[in-house]
Amino acid sequence: MKAENSGQASNIHVGHALKQRFESDALLGASHLPIKVQDSVAMPVIARQPIAEDDAKQRQVQLDVIDNGEVKECAKCGLSNTRTKTVFGTGSATARIMFIGEAPGHDEDMTGIPFVGRAGELLTKMVEAGMGLKREDVYIANVLKCRPPNNRDPATDEILACKDYLWRQIDLIKPEVIVALGAPAAKTLLETRDGIGRLRGQWHDFFPSGTALVGEPIPVMPTYHPAYLLRSPGEKKKAWEDLKMVMARLGLPIPKRR
Ligand code: SF4
Repeated sequence: MKAENSGQASNIHVGHALKQRFESDALLGASHLPIKVQDSVAMPVIARQPIAEDDAKQRQVQLDVIDNGEVKECAKCGLSNTRTKTVFGTGSATARIMFIGEAPGHDEDMTGIPFVGRAGELLTKMVEAGMGLKREDVYIANVLKCRPPNNRDPATDEILACKDYLWRQIDLIKPEVIVALGAPAAKTLLETRDGIGRLRGQWHDFFPSGTALVGEPIPVMPTYHPAYLLRSPGEKKKAWEDLKMVMARLGLPIPKRR
């Protein structure tokens, strides 16, 4: 886990002071105060960056070149022997939010499209009904581009072989925020061994350059994978809290009721 931008220190300080204040109030019985929301208020809102039409087209062209010219023929790891189709990614090449899961499942392997099974339907619902966005306005991808047999967890050598594709997708799309869906995605991006229960609900930094010394970090919000939420519907509330932090960070309106 890395610290947030040093230039945001004063905002963070104010946020912590507010949080302490609300926590004190909560201890005194004012439990209705939105302590959790103050965590997101502490982070500065990211303004939408205008993107020229030519730039957007060029990004999509370059994504297609990686997909059609490299990934579809890739045999860098053993999953090339068992996959039906590679699953590169889908959505807008200029998306503000990139959702990243761990690997394709059965339905994705058959169609070549990420998040199309039951878990995909839930993710679409979270994006559209929950966040008020369109699925095609965000970008959805996985760490691995091929399905591990029987949906087992990605192996370390497979992640090492494949992650360059994801890093290049991130570099081209330049998302303002990444939502890491589940532990394998969060651990890969953040190079941590912490579990998702510990990582979620807080902002982390992903450094596309691989080092905090070069370039700006991209904020990462880890949350539960939709497949886990299908098995544990009681955790949906926590996932929604995480997504509300994402929306607050991007200055998007948060629905009052759902
Ligand atoms: S999982 Fe990635 S590295 Fe392995 S064969 Fe598929 S595209 Fe290549």
